[in-house]
Amino acid sequence: MALTNTIYNSTVFQQACKQFDIAADILGMDPGLRERTKRPRRCVIVSMPVRMDNGQIEIFEGYRVQHNLSTGPAKGGIRFHQDVTLGEVAALAMWMSWKCSLVGLPYGGAKGGVVVDPRGLSKGELERLSRRYMQEILPFIGPNVDIPAPDVGTNEQIMAWMMDTYSNHQGHYDPGVITGKPIALGGSLGRKEATGEGVAWFVKSYLQDMGIPPEKTSVVIQGFGNVGSEAALALYNWGAEIIGISDYTGGVYNPKGIDLKAAMAHVEAHKNLQGFTGGEAITNEQLLELECTVLIPAALERVITEKNAGKLKCRMIAEGANGPTTNAADKIIEERGDIELIPDVLCNSGGVIVSYFEWLQNLQNYYWTKGEVFDKLYRMLAKAKASVDETKKKYNCSRRTAALVLGISRVAEAKAKRGLFP
Ligand code: NAD
Repeated sequence: MALTNTIYNSTVFQQACKQFDIAADILGMDPGLRERTKRPRRCVIVSMPVRMDNGQIEIFEGYRVQHNLSTGPAKGGIRFHQDVTLGEVAALAMWMSWKCSLVGLPYGGAKGGVVVDPRGLSKGELERLSRRYMQEILPFIGPNVDIPAPDVGTNEQIMAWMMDTYSNHQGHYDPGVITGKPIALGGSLGRKEATGEGVAWFVKSYLQDMGIPPEKTSVVIQGFGNVGSEAALALYNWGAEIIGISDYTGGVYNPKGIDLKAAMAHVEAHKNLQGFTGGEAITNEQLLELECTVLIPAALERVITEKNAGKLKCRMIAEGANGPTTNAADKIIEERGDIELIPDVLCNSGGVIVSYFEWLQNLQNYYWTKGEVFDKLYRMLAKAKASVDETKKKYNCSRRTAALVLGISRVAEAKAKRGLFP
């Protein structure tokens, strides 16, 4: 049965479904179980009236999609972006299901989104919107039900406001409802760095497999936000040269290596890279086609497409972002055979792994050192990498399909074993 509801008319959702179908074909899944595993379990749409600074009331739209609830509480970030759609959020929720399952976390998958450009709001407006969103999804979330986290356009301050709103409703401090919080409110050491650090861990590990040392590694990163800047810093500290970075305002290229600390200080002061003079200004399109060892898309979906996949001049793509490569581009990259692709569900899994650690620490009220967090993180990443590469060999398929085969098969098995209620 096709997913006929028009809310699913989104290229990103169709992209996630196509990826699912490729993996499900390999697994030879029974049609009933296949459809049950594929469909989002619950999609919530909320309208949020918010009083703006000028006294007017503005209505914002928000979503929470819980794709899978069969393997534990759902887990997934909240995105604040002007182009968010329900279909996109459903795709991101689906990827969360496979990612959590792939790395062995006791979670289902979810995602949230609010249609807003957060840069256009004052701090007060942002706080009122964040609290209102939490208020509206409150019946559907909780430490044992669904645990949100930050994503594009949200940060630890927003997580703090949301946690406070939830806790006020419960009548007590309940930090396990959300991850990515400030340390002072039960956040985990290492969570802020975790996704980028994990991306860098995979890049280093696969480069080692390829026999490429740090001093021969040049890196280009699209999206200099949380994930992109932390991955850049980890690879820079390892000894790689960061030759290109970008954000929504455009990119900067410096073949001699960008002064990363200066770039980060510029973003801290100006909120974006515009006006940064540490290299030649280029467009995001040009950036993706730069000659480099590693290309890290760390912004939004569908930036590597059939238009540029044939023109890429990198040896490796490390997907910091979710869904950056279209199905058509995947095919071209596979046919080219000269690019190692580390797929999103594996590559950026460090974020949800340390979110899981944060949740565990909250539930136990026992907090770990940063060393303990990273030690446990690296061990989980290494295990996931080994199982994906073994599956890739077993089915003679792409690394993305191997990762999805693992993630999807575990969710499907759990559903089959649970049976149907009633
Ligand atoms: P962020 O908001 O901190 O940063 C996003 C960056 O992308 C910003 O620098 C922004 O300017 C840039 N950007 C936005 N639109 C762009 C465009 N059209 N072209 C170029 N750059 C653009 O978000 P983030 O948390 O770093 O998330 C980035 C990606 O990583 C997303 O795909 C997200 O789903 C994924 N991800 C995030 C986490 C996490 O822990 N934050 C975990 C896993 C995956």
